[in-house]
Amino acid sequence: MLNITFHWKLSQISERAVKKHCKMCRKLSVFSDTNVRRHNANGKSIYKYAIYKCEKNHTWNKKLAVYKSFTEHVAEMEEQKEESSILSAIPITSLVEQGVKVIHIVLEDVIGKHRIDKVLANQIEDWTRSQIIKKIEKGTIQLNEQVTKPSSRLSKGERISIFI
Ligand SMILES: [Zn+2]
Repeated sequence: MLNITFHWKLSQISERAVKKHCKMCRKLSVFSDTNVRRHNANGKSIYKYAIYKCEKNHTWNKKLAVYKSFTEHVAEMEEQKEESSILSAIPITSLVEQGVKVIHIVLEDVIGKHRIDKVLANQIEDWTRSQIIKKIEKGTIQLNEQVTKPSSRLSKGERISIFI
């Protein structure tokens, strides 16, 4: 049986949520900040985006800043919100293809309040939050080798196990 272990440090994730029409859901949805940031270059400008997701995991890229690139330096044009992405996203589908059966996540540090279902929904692109909730309730996602609740708060030193 192939196992894989991730080590995570959970920081104070702001509970930023934005109500916005989701084109995919075709309704007003609540988009939450995944705390993942990415940069896109477009001509001479570099755009920095925050990746938000609705409850059904559809993404929305919120523009945070625009940088103009010059030959010698990059000048920041708008306020930059510094955010380090300390969590590693879990590519479930490719892990399954590699034959992984159990994923362990060791919480090396936890600052702030983090619900297990939310953290996993943010980090597992291929699973929606409701899928994750079902897996927690079925016991195929466990906390410290025990069946837990979707609303469980995570603490330093704990271990999440995902049985695929
Ligand atoms: Zn949606």
